[in-house]
Amino acid sequence: MDKTLLVYNTLTRRKEAFRPLVEGRVGMYVCGPTVYGDGHLGHARPAITFDILYRFLLNLGYKVRYVRNITDVGHLEHDADEGEDKIAKKARLEQLEPMEVVQNYTLRYHEAMKKLNVLPPTIEPRASGHIIEQIEFVKKILDKGYAYESNGSVYFDVEKYSKDFHYGKLSQRKVEDMLETTRELDGQSEKRKTCDFALWKKAQPEHIMRWPSPWSDGFPGWHIECSAMGCKYLGEEFDIHGGGMDLVFPHHESEIAQSAAALGHDSVRYWMHNNMITINGQKMGKSLGNFITLDEFFTGSHKLLTQPYSPMTIRFFILQAHYRSTVDFSNEALQAAEKGFQKMAEAYARLMKLKASDKSTVEIGNLREKCEEAMLDDLNTPVVISNLFEAAKAINIVSDGKGTISQADLDELRSVFNTFAIEILGLQIEEANGSNNEAYHKAIDLLLSIRQQAKQNKDWATSDKIRNEMAALGFNVKDTKDGFEWSL
Ligand code: ZN
Repeated sequence: MDKTLLVYNTLTRRKEAFRPLVEGRVGMYVCGPTVYGDGHLGHARPAITFDILYRFLLNLGYKVRYVRNITDVGHLEHDADEGEDKIAKKARLEQLEPMEVVQNYTLRYHEAMKKLNVLPPTIEPRASGHIIEQIEFVKKILDKGYAYESNGSVYFDVEKYSKDFHYGKLSQRKVEDMLETTRELDGQSEKRKTCDFALWKKAQPEHIMRWPSPWSDGFPGWHIECSAMGCKYLGEEFDIHGGGMDLVFPHHESEIAQSAAALGHDSVRYWMHNNMITINGQKMGKSLGNFITLDEFFTGSHKLLTQPYSPMTIRFFILQAHYRSTVDFSNEALQAAEKGFQKMAEAYARLMKLKASDKSTVEIGNLREKCEEAMLDDLNTPVVISNLFEAAKAINIVSDGKGTISQADLDELRSVFNTFAIEILGLQIEEANGSNNEAYHKAIDLLLSIRQQAKQNKDWATSDKIRNEMAALGFNVKDTKDGFEWSL
């Protein structure tokens, strides 16, 4: 079959055949969290979406350099270059060093990602560790004439840029409208146009996160870190840039402009964005009282939750929707996802215990091809899940003694579940109910057959040792007339 991966490119608004710049290798950059608070659903969805892409690219045989940054400076309270730095504010409120805030929430973010079975990126750069690269990038933009210095700060000149390039092409906003917007009288008049954005900000005396630069002691604007670090680790042009849809404007639009201004050409070939999450039909927000952290989901400790939800329930729930669809969280929907995940884990446990017969009375069909086609079609995870549920029906028929399965079909089914459910979707079904993967089952069977052999040879010392030590590990071993049975 044709193994061309189709991806939806936000820039062209259509699905395109993915062709990497360098054969066999993929460079991808995903905007990571601003680490000033606990991870929430808004963090889980992009992390899981691009984890699926990463896993699938690896499955297709690509070598992937996956960069996901940590924003630890320059993200201000109000995105329009105003307000306090989010990290600095948290540090002030908690009387900590800003880097203590960063370290604490980075570790907590990693823990939450690990629970969600999100693979770590291959490089995880921090903005504060790349101030020099960002200053160099700003210098390039100034040299090309697409930025101006004003009172120690440097701003991107949207009007000048839009004469030579297309500002607004990602978000499909009209630059004329943006340029026309009149400034509100807020006492801040450093910018020529409201839509100009900061590349470097002069720090006010009370601002604690500051670095020297040719223009002032200050700090980088929020957007410049991704242009600078993407270029440093993936080159002037790279394959995929991802993030949540909320980042399309202004963050990614500005990234495109910065890179094109500095380099003279676009950096990114495929822009991919996951859709947003709502809670009971409402946008998530601190002021709405529906801001639920991942830890609160895992423990059930939020007033809107009627019970805890395991990380795998959250993961399964997110994957039941296509990444470009909106997802609405409610207790009912999560309970349904919990049942769905359990059903799949049970089917997998049965699959691992099935015994093959001479022939199959159940139909496996082209399950692998159907799952693969769905993944190749812009990562259609809900279709993969429904195909696996179809296969679960056949597993249950055989498991209930109402049908038989050949060794070849059994091997194929196990292989498809291992590849698609465990490796690509990252669902930990093998750990969900004390069962485990095929190799694990085979190893236990091998150990018990050695014990059986020892018994037949009247080697009681060996046979007792195996039984006692396995019992200590939590295994129940039962001798039957055909041999043995075990469970954990
Ligand atoms: Zn970014």
